[in-house]
Amino acid sequence: MKLQNFIGGQWGTSEDLKFVPVINPANGEELAQVPMSSTGAVEQAVAVAKKAQKSWALVPAPKRADYLYAIGLRMKEKKEHLAQILTKEMGKVIEEGRGEVQEGIDMAFYMAGEGRRLFGETTPSELANKFAMSVRAPIGVVGLITPWNFPVAIATWKSFPAIVAGNTFIWKPATETPMMAFEMAKIFEEVGLPDGVANVVFGSGSEVGTALIEHPDVKVISFTGSTATGSKVAELGGRHLKKVSLEMGGKNAVIVMDDADLELAVEGILWSAFGTAGQRCTACSRVIVHKDVKAELEERLLTAMQLLTIGDGLDESVKIGPVINKTALHKINSYVELGCQEGAKLLAGGNILTGTPFDQGFYYAPTLFTDVKWDARIAQEEIFGPVVSLIEVESLEEAIEVNNSVQFGLSSSIFTQDINRAFQAQRDLDTGIVYVNAGTTGAEIHLPFGGTKGTGNGHRDSGVAALDVYTEWKSIYIDYSGKLQRAQIDTE
Ligand code: NAD
Repeated sequence: MKLQNFIGGQWGTSEDLKFVPVINPANGEELAQVPMSSTGAVEQAVAVAKKAQKSWALVPAPKRADYLYAIGLRMKEKKEHLAQILTKEMGKVIEEGRGEVQEGIDMAFYMAGEGRRLFGETTPSELANKFAMSVRAPIGVVGLITPWNFPVAIATWKSFPAIVAGNTFIWKPATETPMMAFEMAKIFEEVGLPDGVANVVFGSGSEVGTALIEHPDVKVISFTGSTATGSKVAELGGRHLKKVSLEMGGKNAVIVMDDADLELAVEGILWSAFGTAGQRCTACSRVIVHKDVKAELEERLLTAMQLLTIGDGLDESVKIGPVINKTALHKINSYVELGCQEGAKLLAGGNILTGTPFDQGFYYAPTLFTDVKWDARIAQEEIFGPVVSLIEVESLEEAIEVNNSVQFGLSSSIFTQDINRAFQAQRDLDTGIVYVNAGTTGAEIHLPFGGTKGTGNGHRDSGVAALDVYTEWKSIYIDYSGKLQRAQIDTE
């Protein structure tokens, strides 16, 4: 199957395009071919999106929201179909695939509700017979650049608030996972979203991504991906005076205190560290453990890890799927080699899985290091695979310091039974998301999602906060006094 761009309600582009295969990471099978568009497709998409935005912005927000309700319902009807495709192209196990599609459904309904809110403010004027208010105004055409690890949820976090607020968008999905974008474009068409409101252009980051960022008619760029790419996006966007929202890498930690419920902590760690084969932005890749429970935690983790089943995520009994591709596999392996060179003790895993059924796909053994120094590279850099480093500490203060020592600030978690420690931790952990007695993953769509330091640039996906990315504040003063009244001057 050859995927096609979706521009202005039409499929395909007039130009001849080069196609590249989309590979199922579980077994190497070719699933589809994705076009590598040129800047011409971006020009075309921006032109139709710009034209469509003028009339879309005039559609009352509750009516714009009706399309989101329809999209949510359609996604619900197609949930299993979408989840199956997601698992095939991305690799995460089917249960997580269903969960990700559900996240998109939740986002559709939640943002549809915003169509009847989009709250502004009314406030008294300092002058008599004058009315003052502020409203959210749409910005125009927005460019969405998304990664492969959440091929649908992240796009819904961005596109749904964008359109309910009256913008139109062009979405460039990751080349590894274009099929979900293709499926979503079909849904946009099926619910009759006006032509040009939602556009999908496939292609490389360097060509299509860059063209979107540089285009003068694209006013906002919302990017999720690695910190290295995000920095380039910010630099180029800055040069073109774009509003740029960045959600980037993580190096998330679970803290296990000496009073923790260790059984619960082990469950939380396994789910956060090895779910999606460690390729969530919120994945736990460090466990910061109190010295008094370190030995017991190691033992419990090792026992529990033996029960993890690895294989094709479409098999309902499998707990851990493949990583995205061969490059990822080798990157993970080189970090494991580095960990050994750095003096960390390898307790489990540490190898590329071979033999049947692993040879056709890209599988890495769940890996556990202990005695890792807080400043070792494996404890500081994002590996993005099923690799966890245990770091020993002696106090809560030290645990928080170690947590905060990395350049990222997405998610953190603490397991403790002590409410005072829990509250101190939620205050002092410097991440955008903090969990108490749960792992580092599990964000809900009605709260802001994003991180501090090298993870973000102050914007948030999800929640009402997402609307800040896709709207400008407009302050409106209505003077009904019938005379000139000067603010700050006519004070008597
Ligand atoms: P990536 O940075 O390689 O790619 C992300 C997107 O950017 C892709 O669509 C890619 O084609 C595009 N791109 C690449 N070069 C570009 C350029 N020069 N200009 C414009 N666009 C360009 O990231 P990835 O490997 O797809 O995803 C994994 C990364 O994403 C990890 O670092 C992970 O932590 C991060 N992530 C962060 C969040 C979050 O919310 N903080 C969520 C999911 C993933």
